Order: sequence, then C-alpha cells, then structure tokens
Amino acid sequence: TEGRFTGKTVVVTGAGSGIGRATASRVAREGGRVIALDISAERLADFKAELDGLDITVVTADVTKEEDIARVLEAAGDRIDALANVAGIMDNMTPLHEVTDDVWSRVFAVNVDGVMRLSRAVLPRMLAAGAGSVVNVASEAGLRGSAAGVAYTASKHAVVGMTKSSAFLYGPSGIRVNAVAPGPVITNIEARFDSPLAQERITTAMAVLPAPVEAAQLAASITFLLSDDGVNLNGAILPSDGGWSAA
Ligand code: NAD
Repeated sequence: TEGRFTGKTVVVTGAGSGIGRATASRVAREGGRVIALDISAERLADFKAELDGLDITVVTADVTKEEDIARVLEAAGDRIDALANVAGIMDNMTPLHEVTDDVWSRVFAVNVDGVMRLSRAVLPRMLAAGAGSVVNVASEAGLRGSAAGVAYTASKHAVVGMTKSSAFLYGPSGIRVNAVAPGPVITNIEARFDSPLAQERITTAMAVLPAPVEAAQLAASITFLLSDDGVNLNGAILPSDGGWSAA
C-alpha cells in the first residue's frame, strides 16, 4: 500500500533520539527512504536495529560541520524531497547578563547555524526539482520569552525567522518551509537551571505547562507538514503543545 512518503527521500536530523527519532521512524514506516543523521553513532545504530528492514541510511554527522553535511548529501543522492531539521540543544536557562560565550555559541552553532548549513546544502536540489518540503523544529521558546534562557530563546526565534524568509522566497519555486513549535516532550534533552533569577521567573510562567507528551505526538505534527498533507501550508509556525501557547 502507498504511504505518505512512498518514493520520497527524506533527510531527518537528530534521528538518534527523541523527536527526530520518532519523526524518522514514522517517515520510514510510511514508505519513505530516510537519511537519518545524528552526532551519535551509537544512537543511530540502535535506531537502525529497531527498524530493521525499512529503508534507512544512517549517517553519523554533526550539522555544524560542512564536511559532515557533504557526506549527508552524498548519501542522499540527487533527489531530496523533504528535510526535517530536528537536531537541537537546550541552554542552561540563563538571562542575558549571565550568559557565557560558550553557551551562546554552542546553542547558536547547533540550533541556528546547523539548520542554515544543512538547508543551504539541500535547497539547490529542491530548486532543481521544483518541489520540496522543509520542516524546522522551533520551540515554545520561539514564540515568547518565558520558556527558556536567552540563548535558546534567541536561537529558536532565529529558526522562526529562517522559516518565514525561506517560505516567502521559495514559495513560487514549489518549496514549502514550515516550523513546528513543540511544548514539553519526553526526550533526552537536558534542561538545567543555572540562574536563580531565571528559575524563579520561568517556573512561575510554567504554572500552566501541560503534561509532557511522547515524541510520537510531535512526529505526527512534523510529518503532517512534511508530507503532501501540508500542501497549502507555507511559512506556518505550528504550535504542537496541547494548547500551551493559547494560555
Ligand atoms: P534529544 O536530545 O532527545 O534529541 C536530539 C538529538 O540531536 C540527539 O540524538 C543528539 O545527539 C542530536 N544532536 C545534537 N547536536 C547535534 C549536532 N550538532 N548534529 C547532529 N545531531 C545532533 O532532544 P529532543 O527533545 O528530541 O529535541 C529535538 C528538537 O526539539 C530540538 O531542536 C529541541 O530544541 C526541540 N524541542 C524539544 C522540546 C522538548 O520538550 N523535548 C521542546 C521544544 C523544542
């Protein structure tokens, strides 16, 4: 039977864990050829073993490194139908006057530069095909200021900006670019509070936080936009948060 991704090559980052893994799994189970990349070879091997028999090519790659991205493109081949930029890291919940250069640059390298670099490499193939779908994973922290520290919040607002610029500029070329903004999800991502000031403020704002959901629930939202089901959506920033953003 035909799946939503039958005949399509889909690149998924952060495929070793959490939301990326659930997304890559769903795409493969719906007939897609998945190029699954992650910085962790061990996590990728575990993912591949779990879905033995499906069309999954794993590539150990760091999205911040151009040479790694070149290997991903080589593995994917000439046609890339869809790209899910899921890999990302959290900050340590510090406000601006306490942020270190190290946290700022690491969070921006993965969450912003990583999305820019891989998308920049993939888009020429989509332009050549006159078709493509890109889904970026933002965050509730890409919608407002009360969900994380300054580095993560600024990085996810940058993801929203990249999404909107690309949606506008590539729409006429047949390429859709959307983002999903997850609420709390049970994954391996780490959130540590290093600042009493931020902890007090953010904990107060999280009073109406919904219960954390499984990564599969995010994969449902991401694959909706990634597949042709999202045919009329371009530049949408879709909160997938059980209604948290409506609070
Ligand atoms: P996770 O830590 O479980 O998975 C992220 C994966 O990305 C890991 O396997 C990690 O090895 C990989 N990764 C990290 N840096 C990488 C790099 N430089 N190159 C390639 N791979 C790299 O986390 P998750 O919660 O599934 O996060 C996925 C995305 O969802 C992130 O962008 C995160 O900001 C976003 N998000 C998560 C939540 C949540 O509550 N879990 C909420 C909002 C947004």
